[in-house]
Amino acid sequence: MADILILGGGVGGLVTANTLRRQLDRRHRIILVERQRQHVFTPAFLWMMLGWREPQEIARDLASLERKGIEVVQDEIREIDPVARQVKTERRTLSADYLVLALGAEGSLGGIPGLGGAGHNVYDLEGTLGLRDALRQFREGRVAVLIAGLPFRCPAAPYEAAMLIEAFLSRRGLRERVQVDVYTPETLPMPVAGRAMGEAVKGLVESRGVGFHPQHKVVAVDPERRELAFENGTRAGYDLLVVIPPHRCAPVVKEAGLTVEPGWVPVDKGTLQTGHERVFAIGDTTLIKLPVGLPLPKAGVFAHGQGEVVAENIAAEIAGRSGARRFDGFGSCIIDMGHGVAAYAKGNFYAEPAPAMTMRSPSRLWHWGKIYFEKRWLRRWF
Ligand SMILES: Cc1cc2nc3c(=O)[nH]c(=O)nc-3n(C[C@H](O)[C@H](O)[C@H](O)COP(=O)(O)OP(=O)(O)OC[C@H]3O[C@@H](n4cnc5c(N)ncnc54)[C@H](O)[C@@H]3O)c2cc1C
Repeated sequence: MADILILGGGVGGLVTANTLRRQLDRRHRIILVERQRQHVFTPAFLWMMLGWREPQEIARDLASLERKGIEVVQDEIREIDPVARQVKTERRTLSADYLVLALGAEGSLGGIPGLGGAGHNVYDLEGTLGLRDALRQFREGRVAVLIAGLPFRCPAAPYEAAMLIEAFLSRRGLRERVQVDVYTPETLPMPVAGRAMGEAVKGLVESRGVGFHPQHKVVAVDPERRELAFENGTRAGYDLLVVIPPHRCAPVVKEAGLTVEPGWVPVDKGTLQTGHERVFAIGDTTLIKLPVGLPLPKAGVFAHGQGEVVAENIAAEIAGRSGARRFDGFGSCIIDMGHGVAAYAKGNFYAEPAPAMTMRSPSRLWHWGKIYFEKRWLRRWF
């Protein structure tokens, strides 16, 4: 009998728990610890921003996993001891034979003067709802989509957000009266995916008349004057500010001594094993250096694939089977552009010497594909 403790009920944790439950009989305990009552499908935040989704449509109660035999502990994790494989939550202490960390990355608006409260954080449910209200009232002016720091979750999402806002305002007959711009410290969109992919995404954005401003690292925001100040000495005004916050590892993971500079958990890129025996980390919390010298991006598609690999390997080890699976670095992404179309990018991020990526032209098929994926996700894991 084994106890497997999964920390985090987001993408990686959900996939790991379900995959393990399918492969292990009920003598083995699978315990999922998550502070939130509900799992939320984050890609749909961008549709919620336009009023195309309500929060309850994209959320599911984690407690419903109990009927499958996954124990759910809704609590705040306070301490992780990776040597003893022991976890303290607000109310209890849990020990395990296997520990899987899937605690994600959290947005943090502190650190940049004036940023907190200046705009709408589209990476957060409340922020997205605030943005939805602001967009409904928006009639004219400049919309700034600000990537406030690196790394951030989902390399394509800010560009999707900008294009969807453009489409939304166009549909309301306001296109001539608004300007949408993206400001980013990156040199190109999705720089880890290579120049060709970056140029392709830049092309999509610019085809919508959205301004792309690379190498613009914000250093201060003046909410009174509605102005952004950048490290390169330039300034830009805005009427509506959409913020993609800088991200950091969950503090409890850092306090456990599991991170290395610049603050994420190093793991074996194939097995996702940390430096501790039978302790794994998956998804946004990890640091996986690619041959190009940049880290693997933080995206649900990777958390998903890694969760399956870790679950299958744990189940195999418990069953005494050999032949561990390795995560292959494959990732894909549907980039919704509004106006009923989306582009699709995919490739192997572990390819050497650089990720090998391709992009399919925008079409209605991929837009519907993203909607299908959303529905399937919310049905498949609950
Ligand atoms: C707007 C938006 C759009 C996106 N679109 C896409 C997309 O199209 N494709 C894609 O691949 N990715 C997308 N992503 C990124 C994707 O959501 C993340 O990369 C993915 O969720 C990472 O999975 P994870 O399991 O590592 O972390 P998460 O899914 O973030 O889960 C971590 C969980 O840990 C919990 N937690 C953290 N600390 C504690 C604690 N101390 N105690 C208890 N619980 C804790 C959190 O509450 C959270 O539920 C998008 C993200 C956003 C914000």
